[in-house]
Amino acid sequence: MDMINKLDTKSLFVSIVGKPNVGKSSILNMLVGSKISIISPKPQTTRNRITGILTEGNVQLVFIDTPGLHNPFSKLGDYMVSEVNNSFSGVEACMHVVEACKHPTEMDLNLIEKFKKLNLKVILAINKIDLIKDKSALMEQIQEFSNLFDYEAVVPISTITYEGKSDILEEMKKLAEPSVFFFPEDDITDQTERMLAAEIVREKLLRFLDKELPHGTAVQIEKFSQRDENTVDISALIYCERESHKSIIIGSKGSMIKQVGIDARKSLESILDTKVNLKLFVKVKDNWRNKASVLNDLGYC
Ligand code: GDP
Ligand code: MG
Repeated sequence: MDMINKLDTKSLFVSIVGKPNVGKSSILNMLVGSKISIISPKPQTTRNRITGILTEGNVQLVFIDTPGLHNPFSKLGDYMVSEVNNSFSGVEACMHVVEACKHPTEMDLNLIEKFKKLNLKVILAINKIDLIKDKSALMEQIQEFSNLFDYEAVVPISTITYEGKSDILEEMKKLAEPSVFFFPEDDITDQTERMLAAEIVREKLLRFLDKELPHGTAVQIEKFSQRDENTVDISALIYCERESHKSIIIGSKGSMIKQVGIDARKSLESILDTKVNLKLFVKVKDNWRNKASVLNDLGYC
């Protein structure tokens, strides 16, 4: 009788949605406990859907991190928006992330419309509660959002203090339904290491170039190969739109690209748990954001 029934498993796919910069990627990382999705103070860092997987006991939660919905400004923008829309199909629940003590934005209202139309089960995560002192404002916010939509649960959280982490996990587990596990129990992501490498290089570019990073810079991994037992060779191409952008990315006497390379290598070595030989190249692709063929090359189509 007390034998564990192997078929007694449950799963839930959860799309993490919300305005850029509210902390969606940080939440994914907090829940899955590893640096899967890159985090940046700039909006729109997350270009691809990123799946994090958390298996605890007999429940498997599969997370999809989405770029914030925004107005398409180019083909790349279109792609990102379609990714957000795609992430609603086949998804069984959503985590709607908002910032503490902020009123609903137009984007929040649009998302809520979608939740209603698709009849989705949604948990509201009120993030960054470490920043607030006035708890009564939080109560008002909970009330305001609850009047707009019938959330399965409303959970105040912080990815800094980890407050609310176990609560939100519990709420998601409650929504899980009997099913087989879709991923091996010890997987944390289905994102390929190649994509991860590109994301890491992009993250370092964003970090070091800060506001200077030219809009429309993309990273493509040209080579990702195991040299021997201990070393992976990675070549990354950094695409930009103009010669002047290329100079910024390379920096004076190559100082910028060197710094990016060193930091990216260190991160990759720790994530991949191997020695990494990283080569970075910078190439100008004229107005690449509007060329479908190039987007194809970059894996954005
Ligand atoms: P996304 O665009 O929604 O994926 O947001 P990110 O996860 O990239 O986070 C955006 C910014 O908010 C980053 O600077 C994070 O460090 C910061 N952030 C995320 N969660 C919290 C939190 O709980 N508290 C505070 N104070 N900052 C946070
Ligand atoms: Mg993100």
